[in-house]
Amino acid sequence: IVEIRNVQKHFGSNHVLRDVSLTVRTGEVVVIAGRSGSGKSTLLRCVDHLETIDGGSITACGHLMGYRQDSSGKLVPLGDGKVARQRREMGMVFQSFNLFPHLSALRNITLSPVKIMGENPAKAEAHARELLARVGLPDKADAYPAQLSGGQQQRVAIARALAMRPKVMLFDEPTSALDPEMISEVLDVMIDLSRQGMTMIVVTHEMGFARAAADRVLLMHGGEIVEESPPEEFFTNPKSEHTKLFLSKIL
Ligand code: ATP
Ligand code: MG
Repeated sequence: IVEIRNVQKHFGSNHVLRDVSLTVRTGEVVVIAGRSGSGKSTLLRCVDHLETIDGGSITACGHLMGYRQDSSGKLVPLGDGKVARQRREMGMVFQSFNLFPHLSALRNITLSPVKIMGENPAKAEAHARELLARVGLPDKADAYPAQLSGGQQQRVAIARALAMRPKVMLFDEPTSALDPEMISEVLDVMIDLSRQGMTMIVVTHEMGFARAAADRVLLMHGGEIVEESPPEEFFTNPKSEHTKLFLSKIL
């Protein structure tokens, strides 16, 4: 459902993604770890075409992200509207929850379905209440972000992403801004989501989540994927020296 092929990305002279390839099949959960600056966020942002790429290609949910091929096979950048349409098939959850502070939890969730997808407001609201229940916040529909804890806000952010009925969910360190006691409530929601068959690409250092939910764990180092293994193997028998060093620091 996501096919990343030989992707290159530079920021000026900084070569941030070096020939990165990764295939994610429908229903798979892929965890990406790696130290700060290794290119994890950049890779996720490229999948969503929040960053352009300098080489290679990314296909997601059947779309060549950000481009179309003309009759001679050349890649032509798409306009913003078309890119926005491609992006809708993917839900993105960031470290900072980015909820609209002036809207209730319920309105945060129904905003895009109603305004962008033209969903019937009553239907969108019913769906939003279902999603709030699913993330364990059935009684917080009318609460404003400032009245919610960080963990609760992040769960609303997940519900908001799910409201667009995405085919893939992208998470960029969804728990790293949270106090320790709130981390598990967010991870539990994500584990549930994975059990329900959601395709997920998750940048996280929460190795408990990786063990519980991941089909594969990747390690990025210096803009390359240096390890890609099932969780048991990643933790007990890593192939790359970088993985061994990484694990020795975080476990
Ligand atoms: P972290 O764990 O700290 O979030 P990361 O693995 O997500 O790190 P990236 O944010 O992808 O790393 O950054 C990879 C490299 O690209 C870093 O050297 C960073 O300084 C650089 N970089 C990221 N975004 C930009 C940008 N918008 N402009 C210039 N350089 C950038
Ligand atoms: Mg990052």
